[in-house]
Amino acid sequence: MITLRKNIAEMAGYVPGFQPEDIASYIKLNTNENAYPPSPRVFEAIAREAGDGLRRYPDAASRLAREEAGRLYGFDPSWIIMANGSDEVLNNLIRAFAGEGEEIAYVHPSYSYYGTLAEVQGARVRTFGLTEQFEPEDIPEPYDCRLFFLTNPNAPLGFTYSQRYMAELAGRISGVLVIDETYADFAEEDSLDLVRSLDNVVVTRSLSKSYALAGMRLGMAIARPEVIAALDKIRDHYNLDRLAQAAAVAALGDQEYFLECVGKIKATRGWFSAELRKIGYQVIPSSGNYVFATPPDRDGAKVYQGLYDRRILVRHFSDPKLAQGLRITIGTQEEMERTVQALREIAC
Ligand SMILES: *Cc1c(COP(=O)(O)O)cnc(C)c1O
Repeated sequence: MITLRKNIAEMAGYVPGFQPEDIASYIKLNTNENAYPPSPRVFEAIAREAGDGLRRYPDAASRLAREEAGRLYGFDPSWIIMANGSDEVLNNLIRAFAGEGEEIAYVHPSYSYYGTLAEVQGARVRTFGLTEQFEPEDIPEPYDCRLFFLTNPNAPLGFTYSQRYMAELAGRISGVLVIDETYADFAEEDSLDLVRSLDNVVVTRSLSKSYALAGMRLGMAIARPEVIAALDKIRDHYNLDRLAQAAAVAALGDQEYFLECVGKIKATRGWFSAELRKIGYQVIPSSGNYVFATPPDRDGAKVYQGLYDRRILVRHFSDPKLAQGLRITIGTQEEMERTVQALREIAC
């Protein structure tokens, strides 16, 4: 007889987006992966690293990657921790700040994995809905919680919060405001100034989406050195392998390629959103590499199936707040032209 911790026995576990086996036969627009490959410099860097040196442990401090990120974002490396995907640092934030029975919060809809991670820890989870104006509803003032996760831009809806709103929220809560900026590279603004000016703000970043490195597992947090030092105690000491560290330095260092790819995705996002509106869809203006779109008959499941039958994979959520629409990742211009064509067929 095995006896699990009660919270583990009772929790459901997170279900990631569907990854079909015959991936190449789909237009895959369901998990917000990048439409374009990583920088060619990433492949060169990995090839250089994939030698005899793999016998040796990697740099436990991921120093070169933190220096590269520090240069890019304007922070001393003591303000940066690298992570094996931003999911790792989200997990470690909960482990650092929320003990058993203590409260963490996030907005619903956003990234429900915060809730899963909190359940593992035995922390209490509270969610806040959104008003019509996309502001979290009924947050107490003051609000006593250990961590508040704010996904900005919001996923899956794509809207952003104003800097003023986020600063106010940071002032209202007793704990730490974690701004999950996984998609900030596709937006017009980011929150790094709030990390500089407020002592309870942490920003998390991911290289999975905007740098096309979902398969490498690379993310980071940017925060005051006291917070980074705490997170450093918790993480696996060799959390980034040698290949991942080399890939991070190369990817962050090739801003020309990065900006070109992000620019193409933003242009296609604008084009695709306008095309959807022409065929009667409601589209929330998006600052991510995806759009949340609702068909005229508000039957998201039907359109999901129609696209699936045409081997176009998008994300449909069964949650009642989201079931009427679809989250569609922005692929290449050609992929999105084929998607618009399919949506026109489905509408007939
Ligand atoms: C994809 C995603 C993550 C996880 O990013 P990884 O760096 O791949 O772990 C975190 N938050 C949001 C909102 C995401 O969409």
